[in-house]
Formats: sequence, C-alpha cells, structure tokens
Amino acid sequence: MALIVQKYGGTSVANPDRIRNLARRVARYKAMGHKIVVVVSAMSGETNRLISLAKEIMPDPDPRELDVMVATGEQVTIGMTALALMELGIKAKSYTGSQVKILTDDAFTKARILSIDESNIKKDLDNGYVVVVAGFQGVDANGNITTLGRGGSDTTGVALAAALKADECQIYTDVDGVYTTDPRVVPEARRLDRITFEEMLELASQGSKVLQIRSVEFAGKYKVKLRVLSSFEDEGEGTLITFEEENNMEQPIISGIAFNRDEAKITVLGVPDKPGIAYQILGPIAEANVDVDMIIQNTGADGTTDFTFTVHKNEMNKALSILRDKVQSHIGAREISGDDKIAKVSIVGVGMRSHVGIASKMFRILAEEGINIQMISTSEIKIAVVVDEKYLELAVRILHKAFELDAE
Ligand code: ADP
Ligand code: ASP
Ligand code: MG
Repeated sequence: MALIVQKYGGTSVANPDRIRNLARRVARYKAMGHKIVVVVSAMSGETNRLISLAKEIMPDPDPRELDVMVATGEQVTIGMTALALMELGIKAKSYTGSQVKILTDDAFTKARILSIDESNIKKDLDNGYVVVVAGFQGVDANGNITTLGRGGSDTTGVALAAALKADECQIYTDVDGVYTTDPRVVPEARRLDRITFEEMLELASQGSKVLQIRSVEFAGKYKVKLRVLSSFEDEGEGTLITFEEENNMEQPIISGIAFNRDEAKITVLGVPDKPGIAYQILGPIAEANVDVDMIIQNTGADGTTDFTFTVHKNEMNKALSILRDKVQSHIGAREISGDDKIAKVSIVGVGMRSHVGIASKMFRILAEEGINIQMISTSEIKIAVVVDEKYLELAVRILHKAFELDAE
C-alpha cells in the first residue's frame, strides 16, 4: 500500500466527463489499496477568464483582490472532483488551500509555500477518504487568500507529497511525459523515459511549462519521487524525474530545449562606470519584488557602461517606472528603454559538463539562419540566448534538429 499524490491540470478537469474519468482512475488506485490525495487545477481557460474579468474592472488589478478572484477556479473543481468520487461510492472530502492550511508568504499572485498542516489530511486518509485539495492557492499568516503563480498547482502537488512523505507524486497532464522540447512547437520531439532532476530544474526555469519550477525545487529538496503522465491514457510510464545520473556513455549531450516568451528586456544606457552601479539599478527592482533573470553589463570606451537585464513581461512597466522615477537622475543614466518583443531559447543537458564546443555549435546554427543573439547566459548544464521573438519557433526547430534530439 502506497500513499500517492495525483495532480491533475486544467485540461484534465476541463469538463464533467474528464472529471468522471479522473475519478475512475482514482477509484482504480484506491481499489489496489493505496491512499490517494488528489490535487486539481481550475478548468482549462478558467484562470485566464477570471484574470480578464478582473482587468475589465481595474486594468492593473490589485493583487490581493485578484487572488481572491482567481482562487475560485480551483474551488469549483475540488467540489466537482469530490462529487464525482462519491458518485462512484468512494468516500471523498475536498479542501481549499486555506482549509488545509497551506501557509504562504504574502506575495500575492506569486506566493511561496512556508508550511503545510498535514494533520487533517492524514486523519481523513486513515479513515478511508480520498482527499481532494485545491492547487495553486494558500493562505498567509493574516488569513488572506494567496496564489502561487501560474502553473502553481504542480507546486501544491509536490509540496503536499513532501509534507505527507508520499511514496510518489504523479503529475497528470495533456502530454504523456516530458519531451525533448514542447511537442506543440516541434512535432518531432520525443518523450523521455527519464530525466535528471537537475535537467528538469533547468528546463522548468527556462520556461518549459510542463512543470512549474517551484514544484521541481520541492521535489529536489525533499526527494519526492516525481512522474509526469498523460491523463488521457491508462497505459504508459510517462517520464520519471531521477536523482541519479545515467551511465555517461548513454547520456546524450543535450537532453532538451526550453523556451520562454514571457520575458522583456530592459536597457539602461550610458551609466557612469563605477562601483555600486549594479546595486543602484537592481536594488530598487528587487525591493519591489520584481524577479530579474539575465543580466549583462558592457563597458564602453567613454567611461560609461550599458546595463541590460530581463524581467517578466507583466513587470516591465513597473520596472521601467521604478528606474525612471527613482534611479535615472540619481545615477545619471542617458536613456532607459524596454523591449517586450524578445524570447529566450535554452539548450539543457548534463552531458555539457564533459563536452566542449556546445555553445559555439549553438551560435553557429543560429548564425546560419541569420538569427541575431541579443543576450547570452550559461550555467554548467545550460546555454540560453535571447532572440527577437519572431525567430523563436525557427530557432527551437533548427536547434532540435542540429542536436539530433529527434533521432531515436
Ligand atoms: P496542465 O494544465 O496539465 O498543468 P500545462 O499546459 O501547464 O498543463 O503543461 C503541459 C504543456 O506543457 C504541454 O501541453 C506542452 O505543450 C507544454 N510543454 C512545454 N515544454 C514541454 C516539454 N518539454 N515536454 C512536454 N510538454 C511540454
Ligand atoms: N489554474 C492555475 C493556472 O492556470 C494553476 C495551474 O493550472 O497550475 O495557472
Ligand atoms: Mg501546468
């Protein structure tokens, strides 16, 4: 008998039939004697619909009230899922994030989980219930409803699995595993049977939305056995996220390609080149809780420097106004501009550690297609470039082919 957390994404709970289908799978696992906790997302499209509704009232919605609204999506599906299980004669009970007490910080719309009170869930499981928990939401220390950022139900699933010391966390979605790249963009992409935790972490952080990055972080920290599977098929092993590296001989150099259309680039031109400048530019940005991803600084001949960094598209205007209002005159920057027509493409693989020339091959492939690289960043197992967004799909396709990810 195992304790299994099963997380179902938006397309897997998109309508009553799919919820009934989910309930039948849960019933099968229950019949095998397992204890099951189900985590559900909102019905597909619902979170977007709720965000648009908020924006119709207030173009840049107050984050606390936005979270009050968007958290309702998951409250509907937990109730429906519990009902579907009851219809199959299974004892089931639903919980919102605050009913469980998934305690988070108060960063509305992108809150982090601080702790989970697993006591009631454990009691219910011992009493034979299937417990259904709302993904994506929590509650802060003052009782405010919070949400965990888009795709956050994955994180609820893995965090619950960690808190309950579950034997496995299964992420059910609309693809049958983790692929070499998004199969919607490259139909030749192949499913991976296994992927290392480190590679999955890079792919997620570089934009592969099949798993939210924080869910992968939790899996690593608490050694949660994590598997990605299709909710539309009953067969298939999906993709296992492993903590061991494969035998090096077998390991491909590149395991996957991620991309991200959600970032914008901010450039601060003509800053005096002296100590403290990076801090003066990025300090106020960090204080406003805006996450910065890539950073580049280039020193020119005239003693000034140009400073470029990327933030989430949704936060470009906020970052620009902070810089223009609080920083520009202070540091004497000549010009500050934003560009949200960019995209980031990243190649990821632990095999890069033992091979040279991967970056130059990537740059050559892009150059041969006339794709200009605007920014570059690397880690031990990743190379990421920023390009004009109109070249994104082309870049992903040619890199996928050049690194032979479509080959058996
Ligand atoms: P859910 O609603 O179940 O959470 P998501 O839409 O968040 O589903 O994530 C699944 C989607 O992730 C897939 O439909 C696919 O288009 C996309 N995706 C991006 N990169 C990958 C990848 N490397 N492997 C598989 N799917 C990927
Ligand atoms: N419903 C939320 C979203 O659309 C959370 C999730 O699906 O994981 O982002
Ligand atoms: Mg998702």
